[in-house]
Amino acid sequence: MTKDSLIPYPCPRCGSEPKVQEKWYDNGVIEYEVDCWNDNCPTGWGRTRNEAITNWNKQPYIDGLITKIEQLHTDKKVLLDCLKPYLSNIVDTILKR
Ligand SMILES: [Zn+2]
Repeated sequence: MTKDSLIPYPCPRCGSEPKVQEKWYDNGVIEYEVDCWNDNCPTGWGRTRNEAITNWNKQPYIDGLITKIEQLHTDKKVLLDCLKPYLSNIVDTILKR
């Protein structure tokens, strides 16, 4: 993957697809902004498109999401372990019919 093919991750806070915008200023300066539709979510800025996407992609929220996903995965295992005896009883009941 080359630097030009950087793709912004989904918004770390709301999960929606972000857009990359080119910002032109009167003094000739160009900046790039990565953000989603939600004004309350964070933005990523940079002097180049890739810098803006890199800044967007490394937001600390991503770490929070990964932690949350890992927690949900663990919770799912715990839930399945709790349900196993009941599921087993249901399967036994169905098989006896
Ligand atoms: Zn968002």
